[in-house]
Amino acid sequence: MYRFARSLLIGLLLLPLQAVSAQTFDMVISGGRVIDPETGLDAVRNVGINGGSIVTISVSPLTGKSIIDARGQVVAPGFIDLHAHGQNIGDYRMQAVQGVTTMLELESGVLPISDWYEAQGRKALPINYGASAGWTFARIATFSGEGPDPSPEYFQKAQSQTDWKVNIATPGQQEQILGLVAQGLDEGALGIGINAGYAPGYGAKEYTELARLAAERDVATFTHVRYASNAEPKSSYEAVQELIANSAITGAHMHLCHINSTSLKDIHSVIELVDEALERDINITVGAYPWGAASTVVGAAMFSGEGWRERMGSTAENFQLGRERMTEDQLADYQQNKPGTFITWHFLDESNPEDLALLDTSVLHPNILIESDEMFWMLIDGSNIENYAGDAWPLPQEAFSHPRSNGTFVKVLRSYVRERELMTLSEALRKMSLMPAQTIEGFVPQMKKKGRIQEGMDADIVVFDPDTVSDVGTYQEPNQPAVGVSWVLVNGEVIVDDDGLVLDAQPGRPIRRPTSP
Ligand SMILES: [Zn+2]
Repeated sequence: MYRFARSLLIGLLLLPLQAVSAQTFDMVISGGRVIDPETGLDAVRNVGINGGSIVTISVSPLTGKSIIDARGQVVAPGFIDLHAHGQNIGDYRMQAVQGVTTMLELESGVLPISDWYEAQGRKALPINYGASAGWTFARIATFSGEGPDPSPEYFQKAQSQTDWKVNIATPGQQEQILGLVAQGLDEGALGIGINAGYAPGYGAKEYTELARLAAERDVATFTHVRYASNAEPKSSYEAVQELIANSAITGAHMHLCHINSTSLKDIHSVIELVDEALERDINITVGAYPWGAASTVVGAAMFSGEGWRERMGSTAENFQLGRERMTEDQLADYQQNKPGTFITWHFLDESNPEDLALLDTSVLHPNILIESDEMFWMLIDGSNIENYAGDAWPLPQEAFSHPRSNGTFVKVLRSYVRERELMTLSEALRKMSLMPAQTIEGFVPQMKKKGRIQEGMDADIVVFDPDTVSDVGTYQEPNQPAVGVSWVLVNGEVIVDDDGLVLDAQPGRPIRRPTSP
């Protein structure tokens, strides 16, 4: 009797264990160092995946229909990029090979939102995608009477018009601008993109109204601040004050994009503002990218107006067109005749220790997440430059962009974690996966299941070799994909394996706020 009862008891105890171990998962990532920045897990584990979800994380071996041998490698949540501009399949692929599993256009945003999601849905993308409602698109449409049209070319073409950049909107125009943005939110936009630096002539009331709208709809704004200048007035400092003030006044969650680039060399004063605002529980979040050069259009408003060279600490020599630095004549010509041309603009010299320390101040700050500000891959043929929209892989040899477009996240792992040991691996992963998810999950429910390696979370996963993971592209030769990333999964499907990009994998899903029926 006793013996029977004991064996029954043991049998019952073993049953659940056997049920798990007997299960064959769709996929198992076996024996890797699993790091989850939320729970603090950092240990060798086996990850069992069914469909698009992580089902179990186990010490004991698991059986799977396919097995990824991750011994000696790190298994982490896929990187989430809140700030990326490229919208063609090549742009998403370059991000995928460095471990990005979700890439969102939140700073500039687009309009109309429904049309944009429809267009992206047709592109068979390997990673998840989404966008905010773009305020500049609403402004361009209001001042020009044309559009909006959810293509980057719409924004690039509008660079040759100035009214939407420099004029204060009439009450009627302001109503129209706010209406277009609100419509974008109705259609499921991920908050409001406020590319204020590209239309710095707006009235202060317009910005406050955008913040009020965000607070009312319980979404965030994503701002490229109005000014970039080391000198007052109209300084970076003043522009960040404006953002913090609007958040304090309205209660809106306001994200400050790329604090490293708009603060130029005045980062210490600007970070002091941010720290004090956070101490007072003002609802701001902040991002930065680990590069000393920006990429933007040559006709951007910050490169114009009285004394802009002094204010920006820049001459034509700071501008790089394609692989070459520009001359003053060339700069004048492009600003006049081709203002929508993308250039690389060098504002800090990363080989100069003082400048590098300024950059590190942004990147290392515990409250600042990593965002790439990824730019389009472009084809440059003499003076003719266009975004590359084809599906060749690798990208055509002449394709050009900023190295941040394919190297931001792996550069943090290489330079900050491995080479200079300024950041722990788990801290880097927190800044590149968990923090971005947490920044928007309050109003984008899908993100609650991303940025984490835990049971029940989405299987958006990157597996990389911590000893070799690296960016390869340079400012001169950016078209060199990241190395050291062995496997990338999006929604449980492999998009990168040990042979590289899986060309026919298209598991990318729209990230979108629920729209009311
Ligand atoms: Zn920007």
